[in-house]
Amino acid sequence: MSAATAVTTTVPEFRAAGTDLSERRRSGVSCGPIIDLDAGPDMLGIDWAADGSARIGALTAIAAIASDRRIAQAYPGLAAAAQGLATPQIRQLATLGGNLAQRSRCWYFRNPQIACLKKGGSDCPARSGNHLYHVAFDLGPCVAPHPSTMAMALLAYDASVSTGYRRGLSIPELLGDGSNGSADNLLGTSERIERIELPAPLAGERALYKRAISRTHAEWPLVEICVRAVLSGGSFQQIHICAGGIAPVPLRLTACEAALRGKPADAATIAQAAELATSGARPLPMTGYKLDLLKGLVRDVVERITA
Ligand SMILES: Cc1cc2nc3c(=O)[nH]c(=O)nc-3n(C[C@H](O)[C@H](O)[C@H](O)COP(=O)(O)OP(=O)(O)OC[C@H]3O[C@@H](n4cnc5c(N)ncnc54)[C@H](O)[C@@H]3O)c2cc1C
Repeated sequence: MSAATAVTTTVPEFRAAGTDLSERRRSGVSCGPIIDLDAGPDMLGIDWAADGSARIGALTAIAAIASDRRIAQAYPGLAAAAQGLATPQIRQLATLGGNLAQRSRCWYFRNPQIACLKKGGSDCPARSGNHLYHVAFDLGPCVAPHPSTMAMALLAYDASVSTGYRRGLSIPELLGDGSNGSADNLLGTSERIERIELPAPLAGERALYKRAISRTHAEWPLVEICVRAVLSGGSFQQIHICAGGIAPVPLRLTACEAALRGKPADAATIAQAAELATSGARPLPMTGYKLDLLKGLVRDVVERITA
C-alpha cells in the first residue's frame, strides 16, 4: 500500500448540489478550484417529446425524478432506483448529473492520507487491503465499484448523455469499460453533463429495481439490479438486465439476457438464466459473497417481473 501525507485531487470540479463534493472538500481530498453550475433552462426539469421519449436536465433533483408520475409510468425501473438511493434529504438536493459524475466511495480514495490510482498514486491499496464492498468483476486496476445507481438504471434504459461538448454518449461511452483505474468517468476537464435522454419505452414493457444493502437505508448498495422485460405469449420477447455495485462500471448481464430472450417465462428457465448472471466474474478474496447476492437478485426480480 502506498501511504503519503495529504494526497489530494487538484483538478477543477463542478458543484451541483455538493452532496458528494462537500464531503471531499471537508476531508481535504478535493482541493482544486470549484465551478458552480447554474440552472439554465436546458439543464433543469423533465421534457417529453411527441414520440414519448424524455429529456432530463442534469441539474434536476433525484427527488423530482423519484416523484414524477410520468417517469414512473414510462420508466418504472428508473423511478424506483431514484426512490431507493441515499436518504430523503440527499435526494431532495442531489442532482442527476452529480449522481452520474460522483466520485468513488472507496475508503482509500476518500482518505486524504492514502494515495491511490484515482489520486495520482501508482497502485490500488484496496486490492491488497480491505475490499469487502468492492468489485466482484475485476475489470481493471482499480477495484472500487462505480457508485452511481442512476447510471446503472439509465444503462438499462439505453439512455444517452449530452455534455457541453458532445451529444448522445451512451453510458459506456460516459463511464468507460472499467479499464481506466484513474478516473470514475471519461468526461474531459470542464466538460459538464447537460442533459440525459431516454428513448420512448417499448410497447408493453415492465421494469423492476432491487438492491441488496448492508443496512436498511442511507448506504450505497452491495449489489443492485434493474430489469426491463417485454413478455409475449408466455415468453420473454425483450429483456434487459443491468447490475451495479459489482464492477468499476455498471454492467449489462448479456449472458443472462441471452438465456431468457425468446424462452418461456417459467421458474426453471429463470433459475438457469440466473446462474449465468456471474459469467465473466472475477471476485476478489473478500467479494465472492456478491456473486450469490447477484444471482439471488436476478432470480427474484426476473420471477417477479413475470407475475
Ligand atoms: C448516505 C448517502 C447514501 C447514498 N447512497 C447512494 C446510492 O445508493 N446510490 C447513489 O447513486 N448515490 C448515493 N449517494 C450519493 C448521492 O446520490 C450523490 O452524492 C449525489 O447524487 C451527488 O449529486 P450532487 O448534485 O450533490 O453532486 P456534487 O456533489 O455537486 O458533485 C459530485 C461530482 O460530480 C461532478 N458534477 C456534478 N454535476 C456535474 C455535471 N452536470 N457535469 C459534470 N460533472 C458534474 C462534480 O464536479 C463532483 O465531482 C448517497 C449519498 C449519501 C450521503
